[in-house]
Amino acid sequence: NALLKSFASALSYFSDKVRYVCRVEADRFCVLAEYDDNIVNDFENFTRRFSSNELLVGGNTSFGIMSSAYIPDMTAAFSFDQAFDNVNLALKYSKAHSIAICSVYKTEMREELNRTIEIAGDAMKALKNSEFKVFFQPKVSVSQNRIVGAEALVRWIKPNGAVVTPDSFVPFLEKNGYIVKIDFFVYEEVCKYLRRRLDCGLEVLPISVNVSRIHMLKNDFIPHLVEIVHRYRIPTELIELELTESVFMANEENAVRTLGALREKGFKVSIDDFGSDYSSLSLLKRMPVDVLKIDKGFFSGDHIEEKESILLSSVIDMANKMDIDIICEGIETEEQVDFLKNSKCDTAQGFFYAKPVPIADFEDMLENGINPISEKREK
Ligand code: C2E
Ligand code: MG
Ligand code: MG
Repeated sequence: NALLKSFASALSYFSDKVRYVCRVEADRFCVLAEYDDNIVNDFENFTRRFSSNELLVGGNTSFGIMSSAYIPDMTAAFSFDQAFDNVNLALKYSKAHSIAICSVYKTEMREELNRTIEIAGDAMKALKNSEFKVFFQPKVSVSQNRIVGAEALVRWIKPNGAVVTPDSFVPFLEKNGYIVKIDFFVYEEVCKYLRRRLDCGLEVLPISVNVSRIHMLKNDFIPHLVEIVHRYRIPTELIELELTESVFMANEENAVRTLGALREKGFKVSIDDFGSDYSSLSLLKRMPVDVLKIDKGFFSGDHIEEKESILLSSVIDMANKMDIDIICEGIETEEQVDFLKNSKCDTAQGFFYAKPVPIADFEDMLENGINPISEKREK
């Protein structure tokens, strides 16, 4: 309360420049002023200065001042409600994109929001119309040239046959939480597949699924997952959960707890895209995981550079010593396979062996063996 009062009285500094100041709710203030670049600078400086307010400093408590947002053009085209709505959008945008101080409303923000709403609406219809399919990409033992598992990857197959890959819809569905529905659909399809194989007495290999960071914000992730896995009577060790580093960074304490609970139930847990963020190494120390999936970014160039090779070898060595399994993603060339053969990482996933394919095609591969690119070329 003291902080809010202090902020309100500090705002009076602007009283000659602004038309209207109010506290909307909680820690939100709204200022109505004629827009120009100077006032943006003034507010930025004000925000910076206020950050050193004595109420914000000291003790163990840290406060953050929310970013400010502006609408550049308060013309007659806007009603106040619309303007307020726009400024709220700019504020949300600045938070989502970690813009520290200030964000100016642009029509693109509204377009992005509309696009999110549109994609989300389409996706929910598509889920009902069974347009989402689960593809499997094999994981391969390099030394034995044999499939040892697979990753389930979702695909949106439009009625015209166009295949949409997750990068074009997952980020949108993460914004409004709908990704959770897609993920549970994928988990259920994976369980159905495993149940069918088990019932037919066929070989079953562990399948990994992706876990959106959004699940970590909800309490029912583990119960819901366990419910599905139990309903299909699938041994939990056949399911590996892939979490990206962003999951761990958002709320570390929560992530450690969730990981521990999942592993207690017998699921395998892996860090996906390992090495694509800064904090990877320190994560290793703190996170109880079974598998590291080395990010495909390490293998994006034509050659593995010396520095990359040193880094990779060290990470592989470290993981081996810590008794953590390791798999390299994005393996596309023979040279990369040779590298893996010479290092102590025997598991690979990548286009060299196979792209993600429909489940029936994956089962063919299980039956007939894989056909790496080098062999395809020889034929
Ligand atoms: P990811 O989990 O890291 O999955 C690996 C991605 O790398 C897949 O892209 C796969 O097709 C691609 N990939 C595999 N081998 C190679 C290769 O040799 N070269 C190259 N350039 N790429 C390769 P995809 O299927 O487009 O998925 C992209 C991302 O979308 C995934 O990255 C994952 O983060 C997310 N995703 C996919 N399916 C799901 C899902 O069911 N739920 C959630 N929450 N996210 C998903
Ligand atoms: Mg993955
Ligand atoms: Mg990955």
